Amino acid sequence: MRAPSPIFAACSLMVVLGAPAFAQSAATPPDTANDPIRALVSRLELEKYKGTIKGLTQFGDRRQGTKRNRDAVDWIEAQLKSYGCTNTERITYEYTPAQQAQRAPQPQDSAAAAARRAAAARNTQASGGGRLRGNRARTGVNTDSLAQPDPRLRALNAEPTTPGQRQEVFCTKVGTTKPNEMYIVGGHMDGHGWGEAANDDGSGTAIVMELARVFNSPDVQTERSIRFILWNNEETGLNGARAYVDQRQALQGKESPAGSKKYPEPKWLGMIQHDMMMFDHGMPRADGTVSPEQRPEADVNIEFQSNSKMSEASQKLAWALHSANSRYATDYPAQVGPHMTNTDSAPFQDIIAAISLRENERGREIGAGWDPHWHQPTDVFATFSDKDFRLGLNAAQTTLGGLAQLTGATRKK
Ligand SMILES: [Zn+2]
Repeated sequence: MRAPSPIFAACSLMVVLGAPAFAQSAATPPDTANDPIRALVSRLELEKYKGTIKGLTQFGDRRQGTKRNRDAVDWIEAQLKSYGCTNTERITYEYTPAQQAQRAPQPQDSAAAAARRAAAARNTQASGGGRLRGNRARTGVNTDSLAQPDPRLRALNAEPTTPGQRQEVFCTKVGTTKPNEMYIVGGHMDGHGWGEAANDDGSGTAIVMELARVFNSPDVQTERSIRFILWNNEETGLNGARAYVDQRQALQGKESPAGSKKYPEPKWLGMIQHDMMMFDHGMPRADGTVSPEQRPEADVNIEFQSNSKMSEASQKLAWALHSANSRYATDYPAQVGPHMTNTDSAPFQDIIAAISLRENERGREIGAGWDPHWHQPTDVFATFSDKDFRLGLNAAQTTLGGLAQLTGATRKK
């Protein structure tokens, strides 16, 4: 790596000091001008990312166990194929929710809920570790159709979930020299709450799809394999990710058929999850409201779980992406934290290196009401500004840059 010239350093300092937040995007440090990975990262575009999220929202909240969810799986598969990721496959599993989840609210529930809220207010333990600090606002899942003011969306989300068979789709970029080693990149395509699940988790699903598009460009090759997977049933308890681990963990590294040089399940090197990528507007105010403007300190939160068997390897993977963020993300920095929780990387955390990327820490921040649209009718495309979408794009740049380094990505001459 060459050191930047003094002239450039002076200029870039002036740009940073004197210009509005996004002017930094235009300045490409000269020492990385010939970096082939930078060329790949530049294929991520804000309008394409937004377009993919918009495409997902045509299926409303994509709640698992409905036609709108199955239609979204079909649409995602068609998109992956159109990007050149043509070897799509599906995981099939059964999902039968517990009796309790299906039961209608009872009158005594409001008293019980109030007691739970009071207990929660006294408790400062955040999910995944860490402590709750400062102001908190209410969280929960909206189950009231009438809370959705748009009659079109209300109708689109009307079909209730029914127990039974579920599917989730993935495709794989096969490595050239080490096809039997693989990173898994995920987001969950199901949602709920009577909105469009635009942020939770259209924003993460679109990152995985956009990465599939870039890595499957005809001129791109990687030494190691990458699997792009769009989990189903995250919102019901990570059931889709658990089904994948149950069905495929034991298949890792096995050549099939023997002598074919084909590996249906390459050895897992790491799992990178993307879940809620766009909204970082800061702590709720004392009255429970949240700023309509993104906070200037917005960042990408990369989390591993310090209380897992693979915490050391996971932390290493987190720092690799942190470093890729410094190098490739155009607008927003990254931050590493030890409290990964409540998303599809959890079933992997005792098996392989596993991390999640998010808009905020899941336990300490999102769990304290930092995202007022979480599981609400307002989680729709129109709620989010370009600054919000750009935070998601920066997470895509972070993972793409990190993965390109980890898998040995190059452009064919
Ligand atoms: Zn989610």
